[in-house]
Amino acid sequence: MVVAAQKRDYYEVLGLAREATPDEIKKAYRRAAHKHHPDRNASDPSAEGRFKEASEAYEVLSDPATRQRYDQFGHAGVGGAGLHDFSHMGVEDIFSMFTDIFGGGGGRRRGRGGTDLQTEVTLTLADVATGAERSIEFQRRDFCGTCGGQGAAPGSRKRACSTCGGYGQVEQSGGFGGLFGRVITDCPACRGRGSMIETPCPACRGSGRTTASRVVNVQIPAGIHEGQAVRLRGEGEPGEDGSHRGDLHCYVRIAPHPFLERHDNDLVCRMPVSFTQAALGAKVEVPSLTGKAELKIPPGTQHGHVLRLAGLGLPSLRSGRRGDELVQVLVEIPKKMNKAQETLLREFAKTEDRSVMPESKGFFDRLMDYLGGGEK
Ligand SMILES: [Zn+2]
Ligand SMILES: [Zn+2]
Repeated sequence: MVVAAQKRDYYEVLGLAREATPDEIKKAYRRAAHKHHPDRNASDPSAEGRFKEASEAYEVLSDPATRQRYDQFGHAGVGGAGLHDFSHMGVEDIFSMFTDIFGGGGGRRRGRGGTDLQTEVTLTLADVATGAERSIEFQRRDFCGTCGGQGAAPGSRKRACSTCGGYGQVEQSGGFGGLFGRVITDCPACRGRGSMIETPCPACRGSGRTTASRVVNVQIPAGIHEGQAVRLRGEGEPGEDGSHRGDLHCYVRIAPHPFLERHDNDLVCRMPVSFTQAALGAKVEVPSLTGKAELKIPPGTQHGHVLRLAGLGLPSLRSGRRGDELVQVLVEIPKKMNKAQETLLREFAKTEDRSVMPESKGFFDRLMDYLGGGEK
C-alpha cells in the first residue's frame, strides 16, 4: 500500500475535474482501465500499478459518500472506510468487482474464443460471515456427446470442403470490383472449418453442440458483497473452434436478515429498550449473526445512541478483519401503565423541576385551554 503522502490525487489519476459527474467518472475509469490493462501492456511492468491506482480512485469517487469525504479531507478522509486494498488484488478480481463498468464478462472475453455464462447464488449474512460452498446447476451449450462435437453422425466421415479445398479460408476480391485488392476470409461453405459433414449427427443436427445441464461447486469467500461475482474459469461454453471455453460468473445476492442490516463490514441492529432500562442501565440480549449476544446498556443511555459490539460484524473480503455490530438503542415510552406504575412515576416527576400534565385532563381539554388561553 502506498503511504498517504505519496498518493496521487484521485481526480488527477482519472484525468477529471473536481466537479465531474458520476457518468464522467465511470467513463474515465473505463478508459483508464482499458489503457492500463496489464494484458495490453505486457512489456510495461508499471501498467498493473496504474490500473490498480485507477481502480482505487474509481472506488472512492464512484460512491457519493466516500467521494464527499475525499473532497473534504483528501486521502486521510477515506482511510478505514472499508475500501479494497487493490495492491493485493489480482487484475481479474478487480474486473469482476466492477461488473457495472465492464459487464458480466469482466472485459476478459477477447481472444479466448469461448462464451462466458452467468448465474446467481443467494447467501445469508451468516454465509457471508463464514464463506460458503454451493452446488450450482446450470444449462450450457456443450460438445455433443454423440459425435464428440464433430457434428458428423457416428460412422460417417467428414470430407474436405470442396469450396476451400480444406483450408477453411478463401481468397475473395475486395469491395468495389477488387478496388481493395484480394482479401482472405473464412470459407462461407464450411464456415472456416475446412471440412463438410456427409451425414449430420442426429443428436445435434450437425452443429456439434447440445444443451446440457451441469453441476459445479463454487467456493464463495467470506466477506463477499452483494453484486460481486466468483469466476469459475473454463466453466462457460466452448467457442466455435472448440479450443477454449468461456468462464462461468457466479453473482452473489444476499438475502435480507430479519434484524441485521449490513453496512460494509459492520452490522446494524435497532434494539428497542424500555425507558427504565435506558435510564437505569441494563443487560439485554440482542440478535447477532450467530444467534444472540449480550449487550450492556449503560445508565443514562439516550434514544438513538449507538453501542458497539466489537468484532461481531462481517470479515473483510481482503484482510479477513471483522467489522462490528452496531446497536442503535430505541427508547420506548410506555403507552399504558397500571395505576401503581403511574403513581410511582408521578412521585418521580415531583422530584423533577418540570410541570407534568394533570392526571385526567384529556387532549381536547388541553387543546381548548390552549386555544382559549388568549381570551381568558
Ligand atoms: Zn452431435
Ligand atoms: Zn470450406
